[in-house]
Amino acid sequence: MSASRPLLRRLQMLCAALVAITGSAAVQAAWIAREEAIMGTRCAVELWSIDAAAGEAAIDAVFAEMRRIDALMSTYKADSEISRINAEAAKAPVQVSQELFQLIADSLEYSRLSGGAFDITYASVGYLYDFRNRQRPGDTAISAALPGVDFRQLQLDADDRTVAFARPGMRIDLGGIAKGHAVDRGIALLKERGITRAMVNAGGDTRVTGDRFGSPWVIGIRHPDRANEVVLRIPLVDAAFSTSGDYERYFDEGEVRYHHILDPKTGRSPHELRSVTIIADTALRTDGLSTTVFVLGAEEGLALIDRLQGVDAILIDAGGKVSYSKGLAPP
Ligand code: ADP
Ligand code: MG
Repeated sequence: MSASRPLLRRLQMLCAALVAITGSAAVQAAWIAREEAIMGTRCAVELWSIDAAAGEAAIDAVFAEMRRIDALMSTYKADSEISRINAEAAKAPVQVSQELFQLIADSLEYSRLSGGAFDITYASVGYLYDFRNRQRPGDTAISAALPGVDFRQLQLDADDRTVAFARPGMRIDLGGIAKGHAVDRGIALLKERGITRAMVNAGGDTRVTGDRFGSPWVIGIRHPDRANEVVLRIPLVDAAFSTSGDYERYFDEGEVRYHHILDPKTGRSPHELRSVTIIADTALRTDGLSTTVFVLGAEEGLALIDRLQGVDAILIDAGGKVSYSKGLAPP
């Protein structure tokens, strides 16, 4: 009796350990989803974790990363790196972090690719709009600001990691690409933590990694006028997806909509398209290209997308017509 006691105890301990291991897996493994308002928009993370607490911590890390990027790149924050560039770079080159330098360099790639339809110096005229307060510049103010809109006047020095403006009155704004970068960073953080099934979203920009146990993630494109109506559902696995629309930030004056995407050539909002959705491998790419194609319009926009490898597009024009890049067109 007494000899078997330690054995019994050991067995009991072993059983307790097994219950702890399997119990925690069975009880705590879960899909977890959370939303938070960051970067002036609704951000969301959904993931599957074998340990719910670790999953919650991973979501915390993604939101913290988004807040960090917002602090770096918000033109609304006077102490952000971007605000420092806008205040100083016309006077002397401004040294910036590697991350911001790289993002500005990436944005120039989309400018070159599109002949300037995507151009972060759009802000030289863009700052004159205040969509919340229904304010827009008049013709004279637009003409005066337009010379400052030109990505060729944005001087990057990779050795010194500096940014300089070749003209006075220039400004930059990364609103067309920063959320995509934040989404990619979010997915990278989750992967580092061993998460293999997740979705990270910031406003119109989303990226998914893995699938939902044999099913794809399904992402919707909303109707341009009716927020709760989904026009199209797209199944995705390991991909990014961005939609740019004229309904995100805007005000109407009679028949004319003034919205947050501006044509750098005119300093005004384009009206040919209502929404542009891009699907590709990274959210940086889909974010940059959705804004780009919105400005280019259907013909030039689809021609650009069809030239690129691994990128697809879905366009909704002002008449409600939906068009697709070659990769998505029915055979
Ligand atoms: P959202 O911010 O709604 O996801 P987009 O990705 O299309 O939509 O980005 C729109 C933002 O891009 C604008 O709010 C502005 O900050 C910036 N932007 C507007 N026009 C241009 C442009 N021609 N080139 C680069 N960025 C632009
Ligand atoms: Mg964009």
